[in-house]
Amino acid sequence: MSKVMYSKTLNSLGEYDVAVLGGGPAGVCAAIEAARCGRRVLLVEATGMLGGMATAGLVGPFMTCYDRDGDEQVIKGLFDEIVDRVVEMSGAVSPDKTDSPSRWTSYIKKYHRRVTPFDSFILQLVLDRMVKEAGVHTFLYTRYVDSICTDGKIDSIVLAAPQGLVAARAGVYIDCTGNADVAAASGVPTWKGSEKGYPPQPATLFFEVDNVNDRNYIARPPRPVKAYQKPLAGSYKVNHDRVYGVDATDALSMTEAHMKGREQVLESYEKLLATPGFGNCRITQIAPVIGVRESRHIQGLYMLTVKDLGEGRIFEDAIACCGYGMDVHSRDGKMSGGFHGEVAKVYTIPYRCMVPVGCSNLLVAGKTICAESQAAGSFRIMPGCMALGQAAGAAAALACEGGILPGQVDTARLRELLKKHGAYII
Ligand SMILES: Cc1cc2nc3c(=O)[nH]c(=O)nc-3n(C[C@H](O)[C@H](O)[C@H](O)COP(=O)(O)OP(=O)(O)OC[C@H]3O[C@@H](n4cnc5c(N)ncnc54)[C@H](O)[C@@H]3O)c2cc1C
Repeated sequence: MSKVMYSKTLNSLGEYDVAVLGGGPAGVCAAIEAARCGRRVLLVEATGMLGGMATAGLVGPFMTCYDRDGDEQVIKGLFDEIVDRVVEMSGAVSPDKTDSPSRWTSYIKKYHRRVTPFDSFILQLVLDRMVKEAGVHTFLYTRYVDSICTDGKIDSIVLAAPQGLVAARAGVYIDCTGNADVAAASGVPTWKGSEKGYPPQPATLFFEVDNVNDRNYIARPPRPVKAYQKPLAGSYKVNHDRVYGVDATDALSMTEAHMKGREQVLESYEKLLATPGFGNCRITQIAPVIGVRESRHIQGLYMLTVKDLGEGRIFEDAIACCGYGMDVHSRDGKMSGGFHGEVAKVYTIPYRCMVPVGCSNLLVAGKTICAESQAAGSFRIMPGCMALGQAAGAAAALACEGGILPGQVDTARLRELLKKHGAYII
């Protein structure tokens, strides 16, 4: 590949205490939390909507926010607030009202008690309102491109905005891109897929249908098609076929994956039409963005392991809990997919997993934190990513307040602050 040198002086969007890159479940919660702690916050999102996979990916329902057996809710805080507001607008069903196996869970029983079905458009509206109320400076259609670093620290970032390349500067940066784009460009060691060298988990292009005749019996569609009922009767989210070997950090790989995903939508729709209850269903929308389950992971101060999840290890610096199973889809269509191993009733995630090695004023939240790939198959669910995002936002705010680096944050204080803000902290 030939190379081109490029140099340009950029206008700056401004100076912030905290810059959050990526407005998915983790990023939105990070930004709201930091802003509510009194910080000046920039939130940058590449697409035209907040919510990431929950909206642009049409992914849902929110997998369980309860412990493994569905007995006690272990993810609360901003997740709860968001769900309550979407429920108020009739856009979600509260998790205490759903059970498994049921239409809410595509009749899957294991690890599926207490999911939260929701409507992605109402979620978009609620997230818009919440970031505005918190005073977050939000830029949609703006993509993080690069970091300018000095001595292992980000000095400023380069963004591709509709007006062209611009810069921004902050005290603390939070990478919520779902790809660890910021970490990778800022000197943090990363790897893609499994730490053992296996490919990332596959991608799926979600779609939705309505006009399902679910007043009476409906059958379970043939695998891999799974239809999850949405709050509105007769409408379903469809999780179905997979595209293997996708590299979310490569434009050509994403292009081919999305095109293949579109073909798969048609094939799966035909399978649905042949399923009792779905005979007259119509596609209402296809996700604008393909859902990539796994991309980069970062090297952080601690790597969360499968053993930690199995033993239900309670860390001293625990900032989030989860009880969902380790859901690892076949990585190539041949390896076995499904729930691997067993998790304890509840396990915790230490703050150190979000503190990267190699860049001192960066935090990473969401599915890319430092963890074994199989372990990430559990907490990468959207409620888990929201809890991580909220914790990163609170930590960034504490770092700014104390004039210290994220790695120096007093984790006892962080846990207290999160508890005060409604998070479930053991
Ligand atoms: C196919 C599939 C099915 C799934 N099923 C479920 C399910 O049923 N229930 C469940 O709870 N979870 C499910 N998950 C998991 C869950 O959706 C994700 O793990 C979770 O959304 C990750 O949250 P995140 O905030 O880390 O990243 P994302 O949701 O990926 O959000 C990242 C955001 O950053 C933006 N972004 C990316 N790069 C840049 C950049 N350079 N500059 C600016 N913005 C950028 C993206 O546009 C996006 O909005 C599924 C995931 C997939 C892919």
